Amino acid sequence: MTVLFDLDNTLIDRNTAYEDWLTTVFKANGIMASSSEWDIIRVKDNWGYTSRQEFYDWLLSIYALPYTRPELIAKGANEIYTHIPSITSEIEALLKRLKSTCQIGIVSNGGIENQMNKLKGSRLLSFFEKKAVFISGAMSFSKPDQAYFEVVEERLQRAAHELVIVGDNPINDIQGGNQAGWKTVWISKGRNDKVPADYVVNELIDVIDVL
Ligand SMILES: [Mg+2]
Repeated sequence: MTVLFDLDNTLIDRNTAYEDWLTTVFKANGIMASSSEWDIIRVKDNWGYTSRQEFYDWLLSIYALPYTRPELIAKGANEIYTHIPSITSEIEALLKRLKSTCQIGIVSNGGIENQMNKLKGSRLLSFFEKKAVFISGAMSFSKPDQAYFEVVEERLQRAAHELVIVGDNPINDIQGGNQAGWKTVWISKGRNDKVPADYVVNELIDVIDVL
């Protein structure tokens, strides 16, 4: 069996890191967003599920930031990972325990530089074999495109029924994984949506109960 983890909001707390980073960008430009403004920003950002193009176009239409959309995307890639803490000892123990019985990997959508920086900054990278790290920016496809899942199967030499995807995104991770015939584990983080995953757990640490 191979267990493939999504990165953002699965292995790492992307939402907190992203808000921390955006707060520093605002501060550097004299912007203090109120808590009701933050509520709107969070809805627009939607856990990062909104494309950065769309999100930054919206952000720049509201806030007078002295950057273009591509500049903000590049700035994010260079800076967000510094707001991601090292993984906790619980997550480290979870990965070590899984590694003793099965193969583990990463299946992440995003830019290669941004995602690799996050993997290094959080100390996650050392837990994974290079050939089991799949970042869409380095491939021609991204989740939930079925071609993405096929590339993973081919490179790992695994059949669909031997693969498990663990992720927070109902479309990219769960719908995509279901369609590919993989086992799916949805990290709900307290969300009550009806997501048709094989297993639903509240937090990453709970996956040990279902694997
Ligand atoms: Mg995610």
